[in-house]
Amino acid sequence: MTSHSIGDKSGEASVLLMHSEDLLNWSREKSLWPLTFGLACCAIEMMGAMASNYDLERFGIFPRPSPRQSDIMIVSGTVTYKMADRIRRLYEQMAEPRYVISMGSCSNCGGPYWQHGYHVVKGVDRIIPVDVYVPGCPPRPEALIDGFLKLQEKIRTEHPLSEKSERMKE
Ligand code: SF4
Repeated sequence: MTSHSIGDKSGEASVLLMHSEDLLNWSREKSLWPLTFGLACCAIEMMGAMASNYDLERFGIFPRPSPRQSDIMIVSGTVTYKMADRIRRLYEQMAEPRYVISMGSCSNCGGPYWQHGYHVVKGVDRIIPVDVYVPGCPPRPEALIDGFLKLQEKIRTEHPLSEKSERMKE
């Protein structure tokens, strides 16, 4: 129904389109399913954030064991060159739309290895796109939860239907 109304120039159609996008964004932001996947010490804090006392399910955040069932990757730890290909492969196996949270200094920029760590990628955004960066070494669970909230804010401003319509016109 909505894609039909995209080409319609009437005001009524555009109101319909806006509401559909709001509904899509709401359903996406309230059902974020991160891939259970960790790389180094930051992953311990990520696991802490998934524990029952933080109750992430109240935000619709529910970890999944397979990339094919996940739409968020939390890169929590040191990204070595040896792991870079695996991280990219997992990312490509995830369902779209997919998002990435870079958790901690190692993932953001190489962390303590930024200068002499010949084996460390200096930022995971060199291999996959990142939506939210969480600073710290390691960031506490509260900081990761703040990263989730920032991602939800970002998803709320997306225009999935208008972008799809633009792609179809090209
Ligand atoms: S940022 Fe600090 S805590 Fe996190 S993986 Fe790197 S060294 Fe470990």
